[in-house]
Amino acid sequence: MRDKIVAGNWKMNLTRQAGLSLVDEIYRGLNLDDTTDVKVVVAPPFPFLFEMRDWINPETLLFLSAQNCHQEKNGAFTGAVSAEMLASYDCTYCIVGHSERREYFGEDDKLINQKIQRLLENSIKPIYCCGESLEERESEKHFEVVAAQIQSAFQGFKKQELLNVVVAYEPVWAIGTGKTATPEQAQEMHAFIRQKLSQVLGDEAEEISILYGGSVKPENAKELFSQKDIDGGLIGGASLNANQFLSIIHSF
Ligand code: PEP
Repeated sequence: MRDKIVAGNWKMNLTRQAGLSLVDEIYRGLNLDDTTDVKVVVAPPFPFLFEMRDWINPETLLFLSAQNCHQEKNGAFTGAVSAEMLASYDCTYCIVGHSERREYFGEDDKLINQKIQRLLENSIKPIYCCGESLEERESEKHFEVVAAQIQSAFQGFKKQELLNVVVAYEPVWAIGTGKTATPEQAQEMHAFIRQKLSQVLGDEAEEISILYGGSVKPENAKELFSQKDIDGGLIGGASLNANQFLSIIHSF
């Protein structure tokens, strides 16, 4: 059985106090519901990671993620944070390849491949984001684009290593825009990604969680999550509101 995961990407939002209140509300909301088998992941900004560890509790299925890491092990990279540091802060996951990192920080899949390497060396599960732009979808290149992203990001890893990766399909045109892929569009791409992964992993591709991201809200989560190959969501805007985030979790 693959993991069901709902991950909240807080991006560069909130202050320390607001972040602590939010994680506390999420934690309490989860504690009240003892039937959920969804792994809930919060990805706050780096400075919040230390204190957020107090809320991490595998029994309530609440886990910590970072939003990024540096591709080198350590060294003279002012302002950067290594995978080893994240491991020492009990991060179970780390987002890599988010479209905002690709667009605003010029990251490509070759670099992301190195980051995945660093994370796996430190036993952190990468949440690898991929997805096409609006122009690529309109010119019907979306399958080609996502296949190339996956091929290059996962190049050179052994099967056993790749089994620790979570994939997030995030069509760029749906992120923060209020536009969501239809459940059919999302399912079609998720099935395609799983089929690509099966070329390396064989039947074990069935074990990989593939999340959908792009304007997931309480109103559309249930239908998206009911698709065969959609194993949860990577949530941006709606993860900043505890009620909305909990409602998305409970829509499983
Ligand atoms: C994201 O940034 O990963 C994301 C999915 O954002 P939103 O939910 O706001 O579209």
